[in-house]
Amino acid sequence: MRIRQDIADLLREGVPQQDIMRTLHVGHNAVSETRVALQLPAPVRGGRPLQPIETAFYARTEPVDDGHLRWTGHHANGVPRLGRQGKHPSAYQVGFQLHHRREPVGHAKPGCGWAQCVAPAHQEDRPMREQLRAQLVSIFGGAL
Ligand SMILES: [Zn+2]
Repeated sequence: MRIRQDIADLLREGVPQQDIMRTLHVGHNAVSETRVALQLPAPVRGGRPLQPIETAFYARTEPVDDGHLRWTGHHANGVPRLGRQGKHPSAYQVGFQLHHRREPVGHAKPGCGWAQCVAPAHQEDRPMREQLRAQLVSIFGGAL
């Protein structure tokens, strides 16, 4: 059979079958046939205990030069995402919350110059970007 990459990615991440069906709008058979084709173990009823979000986050990253962090987990439409309890927040958002201990306002995005970076300390939300811009304007004038 043809294996759908998005189903395979979520299965390998341990996303529960119900969540895969709901997220990708696929049927029970599509998920279970993919699991069998990939020779992954059958799901445990009731699921396994949920990892702390920090553990789940760092398990899907690898450090790169200059303190940046690369996402090795699932991507959807080019955005790194952490599948968890039926939700798929972006890894930028999760990283932002881990570092700043609050929800981002607007989108969280890396402010370090590397567009794929998920390092928690490198994430910025809209007010932070606006404040930085205001500071640059006050230093360099309105030419920016
Ligand atoms: Zn970075």
